[in-house]
Amino acid sequence: MQVKRELREAGMSQDEFRPAPMLADLLRDRIRTEGSIPVSAFMAEALFHPIAGFYATRDPLSAGGDFITAPEISQMFGELIGLWAAECWMQMGAPARFELIELGPGTGRMMSDILRAGHAAPGFLQAVRVTLVEVSPALKMVQGQTLAQAKADINWVRDLAAAPPGPAVIIGNEFLDCLPIRQAVKAGGLWRERVVTLHPEDKTRFIYALGPALAEMDQAMIAPALINSPDGALVELRPSDAQLINQLAERFKIDPGYALFIDYGSDTPASGDTLQALRNHRKVGPLAAPGTADLTAWVDFDRLAKLGRAAGLAVFGPLAQGGFLIDMGIEQRAAMLARNLDSAAQARLARQLRRLTAPEDMGDLFKLIAFAARTLPAVPGMAPLAA
Ligand code: SAH
Repeated sequence: MQVKRELREAGMSQDEFRPAPMLADLLRDRIRTEGSIPVSAFMAEALFHPIAGFYATRDPLSAGGDFITAPEISQMFGELIGLWAAECWMQMGAPARFELIELGPGTGRMMSDILRAGHAAPGFLQAVRVTLVEVSPALKMVQGQTLAQAKADINWVRDLAAAPPGPAVIIGNEFLDCLPIRQAVKAGGLWRERVVTLHPEDKTRFIYALGPALAEMDQAMIAPALINSPDGALVELRPSDAQLINQLAERFKIDPGYALFIDYGSDTPASGDTLQALRNHRKVGPLAAPGTADLTAWVDFDRLAKLGRAAGLAVFGPLAQGGFLIDMGIEQRAAMLARNLDSAAQARLARQLRRLTAPEDMGDLFKLIAFAARTLPAVPGMAPLAA
């Protein structure tokens, strides 16, 4: 972006330009007047405050950014998702008008690769209308630039509920991990909300504390396997998961569709603090400097699957990313791309392939889960989850 180039030329990094202290000040003011705030409120402000939040102010994904995602590692990722989406479209009877909706599109790289790969399915690109669901003005701008040459009708909305109706494929890569989570700690036999407050002596520092006991309704979000955990145990609650699943279920009742989410996390109920902050590809304390680092938490695939089934959706996966990509033909695609490359670029491609698929890299930790209207055929490349 222009601003970044200017900063670079002036010998400054994006870091020196960050408006972060402002967000820390806003949060300190809020805690001073309102008292401690739940972890979810801290996370929501740190990421999405309209002026000083992490996503409002920067593009954390492009070169020199804070973290890297599968579509940024290699074009092959988006291409295979594109083939997957085209396959869904065909399974739905190749409707003449078709909504392709992406939640949290980042730089727009994945959508651009999807649309390029979509050429392989005759009629797909003519049918497609793209809707990007994005809250970050900075990333919306980057998406517009990335997709400037795309030959598809592209619209932006801030919420899935505002996306146009119709048969759809909905996708989200590393979207679920930045939805604000709540945390609860077992203390004195009670589950209590974990909150963020100011250090009693050094009032500039944020620290964790124990807040009120969870209401019964909130306790219902804790997996039965974890509910009787001993004192000191920490669990994470994701109220946004249920909202999203219900939105999908409502939509698919009227207009059938498929939804695919790819993210990192566990497929069995697990306790423990997974909130993590990344700045310039390095881990920093989640409370250390809100607004200057990406804050994410592990996705709870087990609960997503349960919510999906309870909402009447067909659920597929969770499935490891590595196996899915290999089944979808990533090795063949890599071999094809390698043909026109010199040996240095071939080595780079091989590294990208390994990064996306190797179990010790992203292959196992990253997983896919898909939801579909029960009236539709099974999700391509994924076995249905036994009820
Ligand atoms: N999918 C991209 C980007 C992942 S980063 C990739 O894989 O590279 C998370 C993205 O989700 C960003 O674009 C962020 O701005 C967006 N986002 C986070 N929460 C959101 C919300 N509630 N609604 C819409 N977009 C959101």
